[in-house]
Amino acid sequence: MSKSEIAIRFENLNKKYGEFHALKDINLTVARGEKIVVCGPSGSGKSTMIRCVNHLEAYQSGALTVDGIRMDNSKEAVRKIRDHVGMCFQQFNLFPHLSALDNCTLSPIYTHKVPRAEAEVIAMEYLAKVRMDGHAHKFPNQLSGGQQQRVAIARSLCMKPDIMLFDEPTSALDPESISEVLDVIADLGNEGMTMMCVTHEMGFARKVADRIVFMDAGQIVEVADPESFFTNPRHERSRKFLQQVINH
Ligand code: ADP
Ligand code: MG
Repeated sequence: MSKSEIAIRFENLNKKYGEFHALKDINLTVARGEKIVVCGPSGSGKSTMIRCVNHLEAYQSGALTVDGIRMDNSKEAVRKIRDHVGMCFQQFNLFPHLSALDNCTLSPIYTHKVPRAEAEVIAMEYLAKVRMDGHAHKFPNQLSGGQQQRVAIARSLCMKPDIMLFDEPTSALDPESISEVLDVIADLGNEGMTMMCVTHEMGFARKVADRIVFMDAGQIVEVADPESFFTNPRHERSRKFLQQVINH
């Protein structure tokens, strides 16, 4: 893979929380346009790994490169990288006192200095993309969880990221809302967005992921295409995990 084809590269990355070794020698290269699903038991380091990408967590050793920019933990690198990377969390974190539209225009207006009228046009395009343009003037508490999460995705897209990180985007949702959010994420993937998505939704993983990254105890245990991972996991720990999530 040439340098320009690489979106994210982790090289022997190690992360500790105090004495606790949360990420151990993480090596992973994500190509532009690639859709990675990260799975593994609770506490295995999934969130920590993807949070390193936009410096919500700092790492101690190894290297991380995002869109050709070396994440050296400097302010400059963090600012540049965050400009390329959007993130959605389990909790949508919309501002409760702002409408869906105003949630979407806030950062473009104040961070990117986009004129309000232009920011609103862009926001309406992305709200339409997540099928929420009919609810642009509603406040978060007037929306279902799935609708709020779709607004949160639109809000990220308004910053025109090259890479999207999702950390269990449907874990806080009622079952009926899960598929509406997963469909939106799948659409983004089909349009070529580079994505790393932590999820327990194995149906989604199988359908959408180019590769599955399975983690356990701070390590990447297995990286495989979905077909091999689900039909023929190579590691005992992957097999156990799959049995648990499938029987769940
Ligand atoms: P996952 O997302 O796979 O459930 P996390 O990345 O959240 O796992 O956490 C990995 C490990 O690091 C867990 O054992 C967790 O308790 C620990 N951890 C996470 N965040 C912190 C923190 N801020 N301080 C100390 N330990 C943490
Ligand atoms: Mg997590």
